[in-house]
Amino acid sequence: MSCITCNSTTTPTMKDFQSKNIFTWCTNCGNYGIHTAIRRALVSKKISACNTLTCFDIGCNGNGSDKIGGYNFHGLHGRSIPLAVGAEMANRKITVIAFGGDGGTLGEGIGHLVHAVRGNYNITFVLHNNLNYGLTKGQASVTTKKNMKMNSSPDGTNSELLHPARFVLSLESTFVARSFSGDVKHMSKVFEQALDHKGFSFVEILQSCPTYNKETPHEWYMDRVYDVETIDGYDNSNRELALKTAQDQEERIAIGVLYQDKKSVPQIDRQLNRNGAMGTKIETEPYEETRQYDISKLLEKFR
Ligand code: SF4
Ligand code: MG
Repeated sequence: MSCITCNSTTTPTMKDFQSKNIFTWCTNCGNYGIHTAIRRALVSKKISACNTLTCFDIGCNGNGSDKIGGYNFHGLHGRSIPLAVGAEMANRKITVIAFGGDGGTLGEGIGHLVHAVRGNYNITFVLHNNLNYGLTKGQASVTTKKNMKMNSSPDGTNSELLHPARFVLSLESTFVARSFSGDVKHMSKVFEQALDHKGFSFVEILQSCPTYNKETPHEWYMDRVYDVETIDGYDNSNRELALKTAQDQEERIAIGVLYQDKKSVPQIDRQLNRNGAMGTKIETEPYEETRQYDISKLLEKFR
């Protein structure tokens, strides 16, 4: 697809998504792999940087907001999803990807996740699940395992964890996938499928955080993950099966596309008042959906 701003049809390359800014993540952080994989997926799908918007919130993942090409938005903690949803509703011609950590997304911002899934907005959301609040120095989050000792809970946490994949599967979601930050090839493949999906694509990345999460390093995941494609006859259109398969997060951890509704209808196409609409809301011509109004007379009524 040509660029919507300059009409360029140049084939995108990894270089288009690079930035001159220096990465500030810790050595061996899983975020490096996630960024590489998302770039690879975009290039593989021939999506240009000028047709891409990435939205970030506060957190270690958010420090990637100025390290990737294309348009970027760095918003408040746990709030990358509403930013992405608004942009996608305004301009369907761009590819919108939001990123968030386990703390911001499943703690402070959990309402945004729930309603974006319900609405089936056409964005890809990447959950960096490193089982802790890394940026603020290793406090327990919603996904920290019970009894795991963290900086804010030296005797171990005493709450049950929230299971991200099962939680999102329970929300009548249309695309739920999981991958692991140590496998760039696998993540790229999953991201490509998420980008192709029409509707809200939820991708949980099991992310290693060597600095604060000592219990589940790269090696721990490498010994446990397996792709659902290796399960004989796995049917990823079966939500109950996906819920069951996703359950184990300790011994054998299923990754890949756990569930997909191939008949998914994204939010904007569910809006009956838009039937026959010809453009997107940002376009100036034709003015079938947005236009300027003089509301000064209306405002005077409230003075
Ligand atoms: Fe990565 Fe953890 Fe360091 Fe954050 S604290 S940059 S998640 S290794
Ligand atoms: Mg985290």
